[in-house]
Amino acid sequence: MNDDVRKLGLIAANEFNLDEEAAREAAFENASAHLIEHADDALHAVNDQTATLAEHLVAARDLVTDARLGEDRDLATPHGSVEPPATKRGTVPVVEVFHSIQGEGTRSGEPATFLRLAGCNLRCTWCDTSYSWNPEGVRAATATTLADLAGQVRERAVVLTGGEPMLHRRRIPELLAELRAGGVEHVTVETNATIFEPALVPDVDLWSLSPKLRASGETPDPTTIRKYLAAAPAPGRVQLKFVVTSQADYDDMWELLAAIGAGLPEPILVQPDGTRQDYDVALRELTDRVLADDGVFEGRQRRAMLRVTPQVHRVIWGSAARGV
Ligand code: SF4
Repeated sequence: MNDDVRKLGLIAANEFNLDEEAAREAAFENASAHLIEHADDALHAVNDQTATLAEHLVAARDLVTDARLGEDRDLATPHGSVEPPATKRGTVPVVEVFHSIQGEGTRSGEPATFLRLAGCNLRCTWCDTSYSWNPEGVRAATATTLADLAGQVRERAVVLTGGEPMLHRRRIPELLAELRAGGVEHVTVETNATIFEPALVPDVDLWSLSPKLRASGETPDPTTIRKYLAAAPAPGRVQLKFVVTSQADYDDMWELLAAIGAGLPEPILVQPDGTRQDYDVALRELTDRVLADDGVFEGRQRRAMLRVTPQVHRVIWGSAARGV
């Protein structure tokens, strides 16, 4: 019992003519109750502060993650932000999952499960998957947990596509872990090569870079492409493929390749506009263009560096088919 309590006891005893011992005990009980009440308040305050602190820590962690993974956050396009369509933490917006054969590039013909994520930072005039980024498509996308998405995979090879899947780069490490745990042996990321995340490079088997030439309405970015080539130099880890719709596109492609400079992965893949109804004619035009090319690139015959590659799924199922 401290001095204050003793004094209170004496005051109460005098004031109310109480037995001094009884008054002292009453004062002690009051003081104890007072202390307990304040201790509860203090505890609540500490709990509140702890919760607030935890929220701040989570926010700080997200900021650090964003800063680390989002060097390109300020990447501006004429079409707005590079931010992906919003979904809850731990999920990605999925437009479609389907099992087919890889229709493009060096692994053409291989059975694969395709995971098409919503959103794109570009708006190519000839885009054959605009349903992955237009407002209706984004609204119809399903927010799917990464485990659920990995659980839908049937093939040993997975193609992560879009839209632009790199908009979801913060979710991709966890998705890759789920895919590997489920037995997936090969992952291709199909990207327009405008968003780069170095931490992801080692975990993807094939980076399929498809820069858009100016006739698409977009401007290719040699700096970002160079980063990919520098980070994934091993043969077979990166491929470059272009949709070439005209002679202007073809010339633009060589200009871009010159701007990229060293370390080009060969062969460089070229394919015609898949949205053309006369696809066979488009394919022939491109083939003729390549065969007529007598140009030289850094001392090499240009046409020998190229491969004309039709989109196999386009040939089999036509341009209107989805999920193939
Ligand atoms: S980058 Fe691909 S998905 Fe995006 S608009 Fe261009 S073609 Fe379409």
